[in-house]
Amino acid sequence: MTEVMQASGSQNRVARCECGGLQITVTAEPRHVHACTCTKCQRSSGSALSWSAWFPEAAVTIEGVYQTYHYSDPVDPRKMTGFCATCGGGKFFRTGDYLSDCIGISAGSFAAADFLPPDHIHWWPDRPNWMGTPHGPHLLDGN
Ligand SMILES: [Zn+2]
Ligand SMILES: [Zn+2]
Repeated sequence: MTEVMQASGSQNRVARCECGGLQITVTAEPRHVHACTCTKCQRSSGSALSWSAWFPEAAVTIEGVYQTYHYSDPVDPRKMTGFCATCGGGKFFRTGDYLSDCIGISAGSFAAADFLPPDHIHWWPDRPNWMGTPHGPHLLDGN
């Protein structure tokens, strides 16, 4: 599936998958940034945590070929993830009623050292044992 959403503005950041087949340009600051160490996020990211930023939909331009996965059961079309059809990276998502006018993007896809830190980390008790306590984000036991 190919989709292009038009964006406007000036402060661009670009998220990309590893192979470059999927590129997401944002022209606004994120509305929200958080991380999550729940077991579902560990599986979907294949890593210790998810780190996600939600941008106003009007500020997001998605270019490239991606596949869609509906992660909710039963399927809710407003809850989906998209990812590069070639390499699987560049994940973006919609989260239903949660920040419904935004598109979420895996913050690591920006590969930018100065990207905003998470405001808080969900499901902190589910983190891998080796993960130390970060300074800054609030650590939440659940959602
Ligand atoms: Zn790719
Ligand atoms: Zn999670």
